[in-house]
Amino acid sequence: MTAKSRPRPGLVIVSNRGPYRLYVTKRGLKRERTVGGLVTSVLPMLEHVGGVWIAWGEPEGRFPIPPRRSKFELQHLRLEPEQVRRYYHGLSNSALWPLCHSFLGRVRYTPSDWQCYEQVNGLFAHAALAAAGPDDVIWVHDYQLGRMPQYVRDARPSARLLGFWHIPFPSVELFATFPWRQRLLEGLLACDVLGFHIPAYAGNFIAAAVELLGARADGDQVAWRGWTTRVKARPIGIDFAAIARTAASPPAQKRAQEWRAAIGQHPIVLGVERMDYTKGILERLNAMEVLLERRPDWHGKVTLIQIVTPSRTEVPTYQQKKREVDEAVGRINGRFSDGVWSPIRYFCRSFSIDELIALYRTAEVALVTPLRDGLNLVAKEYVAARLNNDGVLVLSEFAGAAQQLPEAVLVNPYSIDDMATAIEGALTMPIDEQRRRMEAMRARIQAQDIDWWAQEFLNDIQRG
Ligand code: UDP
Repeated sequence: MTAKSRPRPGLVIVSNRGPYRLYVTKRGLKRERTVGGLVTSVLPMLEHVGGVWIAWGEPEGRFPIPPRRSKFELQHLRLEPEQVRRYYHGLSNSALWPLCHSFLGRVRYTPSDWQCYEQVNGLFAHAALAAAGPDDVIWVHDYQLGRMPQYVRDARPSARLLGFWHIPFPSVELFATFPWRQRLLEGLLACDVLGFHIPAYAGNFIAAAVELLGARADGDQVAWRGWTTRVKARPIGIDFAAIARTAASPPAQKRAQEWRAAIGQHPIVLGVERMDYTKGILERLNAMEVLLERRPDWHGKVTLIQIVTPSRTEVPTYQQKKREVDEAVGRINGRFSDGVWSPIRYFCRSFSIDELIALYRTAEVALVTPLRDGLNLVAKEYVAARLNNDGVLVLSEFAGAAQQLPEAVLVNPYSIDDMATAIEGALTMPIDEQRRRMEAMRARIQAQDIDWWAQEFLNDIQRG
């Protein structure tokens, strides 16, 4: 069914940024996928279910995606540059993001940013109410839209509202520093069902609602001002089948061989992330340096492929972090390269998912070592692409995914020495042990895929 003939959307997804950047060209509208965990998971879900995705972007308007045989509609809201500055770069990226990732030293709380956040959340609510019929589910995603559910609820008390918070929710002690903590909690408590990745984040949220707002909690139910919200912990899934299919395809095999030929026959260690201080890229590079100091016999015999996708490039702390990473790569390569081999192959750009899958297939070890991460999909994608059950995932204890993947080599990314030891262990792990660990991880990621995740939440709201 095309978008035009679809009577009403059953599902209205609302998030800060949408799945595509759209460009007007002479030959019509061009699409470019945006990079990030939310899009990776929510896009296949909406492609299956159909509906409308509301996000901020240009051009303004509603567009069937793909244009001819549309699976869903993308609706872009336009924000003024000042709104982008205050609501997005300000309150979202310079206050909530560092706060929720426990980087209290980086937070900047600015009252005018908060006012703008309220205003923009109101705009999103208005658009969602216009797009959703009375029986449709409005699914609000992530920390940029924490106030939106209450605006929707106030305007339409019977609205069916799902929320999902994609980043960590911090401890009460940290969250208490947020000057508008009660407003934010109230905003989220307007949902019927509110999801977090893991029990620790859900528990922190419930504790904050009780201690800072005075809400009543009974198990996963939180009651506030006559309204009850069910708070669920459920880690977002990936499209496991699609990744495994792509990994098995001839183009991915060919591309994997090309990477292998370019790097050589020695082990490849892979890192993939957006440029963000939460991702621990610098710490990981330092760990590689320590490893190379410890193991001169491995010079020329191991390569780290490090992909860093540009992100939030307008924010000064991100620019600073990028410079530090560039310098560390230069220092390490300068120190150890021998003219033929360099320990680090560094890419500072976005890769397509197909290219990443070819790399997942190729790399013997994946390093996913964020200092703090809501979940981390790269870890799951690597596991899904390892069709032969070999390969080793080195995973930070502070990534939400560690709860679902205890068979990974778990590390504390704040300890450079421990990380170097973990990488050394990964590179020397016997194949039987690799298989045992990988099989267990693959089975779980396959069972708890994106369809499972979406269906569980949609069932929750249906039961309400
Ligand atoms: N990704 C991508 N191209 C890149 C880098 C990353 O498509 O160059 C994708 C990656 O496959 C994953 C997502 O972006 O699906 C990153 O999600 P993750 O949860 O790891 O981190 P986030 O960026 O959401 O913090």
